[in-house]
Amino acid sequence: MTRPTKKAWMADVPSAPPAKAHRPGKPIAAPSAIKRAAPVVPPVRGPERAPTRADARESEEQQRRARTHDTHVAQSAETSERMRRRMVDRLAQSGIRNPLVLTALNRVPRHRFVDQGLASRAYDDTALPIGHAQTISQPYVVARMTELVLTDLPVPAAQARVLEIGTGCGYQAAILAQVMGEVYSIERIRALHDRARDNLRALRVPNLRLVYGDGLVGLPSAAPFDAMLIAAAGDALPDALLDQVKVGGRVLAPLAVGHGRAGEQTLCLFVRTSRTQWSTTLLDAVRFVPLRPGIA
Ligand code: SAH
Repeated sequence: MTRPTKKAWMADVPSAPPAKAHRPGKPIAAPSAIKRAAPVVPPVRGPERAPTRADARESEEQQRRARTHDTHVAQSAETSERMRRRMVDRLAQSGIRNPLVLTALNRVPRHRFVDQGLASRAYDDTALPIGHAQTISQPYVVARMTELVLTDLPVPAAQARVLEIGTGCGYQAAILAQVMGEVYSIERIRALHDRARDNLRALRVPNLRLVYGDGLVGLPSAAPFDAMLIAAAGDALPDALLDQVKVGGRVLAPLAVGHGRAGEQTLCLFVRTSRTQWSTTLLDAVRFVPLRPGIA
């Protein structure tokens, strides 16, 4: 088959290849909330006099408050760890097999990528709003796409260069950076690009580069890529973008194709089998926000 055209996608529907284990990338630093801060007792200043009982009571009260705060921080870190482990167990039951993917989802604190008001739902298997009419993808979809993109790469995953289009809040990018060598992620909405940068700063992910721009143009300065993961649904992928994929490389993209019903999308896997040829696999029915040209 030549370039992945809409007609070509509908032509052959082989089944998904089995997942293979690869070596993980660099680990993410522990979220700072897990590190227990020492209670801070401000020095008591005032007129030179012997401390009174009231001073002692106040100091005890300050220490008690600091200890309580400390306990709350540790408890909420423990709670989110427990919720994350439960989420990963559910993903394994839903068919995610690659241990590297499960480990990555267990490691990255998803609650740090959503508004505080939604943090209690961060480990539900659901997409959540991140503002600007966009969403953080459902954990199952993130896990599934990561597993698919990892399988049969032209190089070991730890050396692979991957381009994500649609950073959003940065969660999928952080997961990819756990399992791949070098990750580039482009976002077209400036406010989301900035927000992803803030979300990721505390996690220190040295092998991830965030780029503000139109992902449909790709990133010629960092090409060629071993894989691309498109996190928004379009009608087609431009040649200029596909040209940035290595022979043997993989492109995973939700596209507006289905079985004739309006609004349907299908997750598609394209593998570049030669300079001019691509193989195509239609996978799951999915629901993504639209892929749009230009920047905002
Ligand atoms: N990867 C995200 C999902 C974000 S939703 C996650 O971890 O959950 C998809 C994102 O794609 C949106 O933020 C949207 O603004 C962005 N997007 C859409 N078209 C784009 C384009 N042409 N270039 C870059 N980003 C694009």
